[in-house]
Amino acid sequence: MAKRIGNVRSIALERINTLFSEASSEFKNHPERSHRYVKIVLRLVAKAGVRIPRKFRSNYCRKCKIYLSSGVNSKVRTRNGKLIVFCSKCKNYRRMLLKPRV
Ligand SMILES: [Zn+2]
Repeated sequence: MAKRIGNVRSIALERINTLFSEASSEFKNHPERSHRYVKIVLRLVAKAGVRIPRKFRSNYCRKCKIYLSSGVNSKVRTRNGKLIVFCSKCKNYRRMLLKPRV
């Protein structure tokens, strides 16, 4: 049973990776597809009990669940060692630590 759960997680992580890379390549021409991919990712995350990898955390809006591309529909700034991601759709911003505390 434990093995099965591990498999589900690794498959989910793999799909998250693919979906985010698809989302970034589709964003220019089909932004609505990217937003759909983010929704799929969020569903996957809830189902499989995995966390979205760190590198993708600034690529979506937690509030309105859309794909965020820095410079296009989001602003990414750093302040005091924190990354600030601003969603231009819902005007929501999130702060996250740039470096994990050692
Ligand atoms: Zn938003």
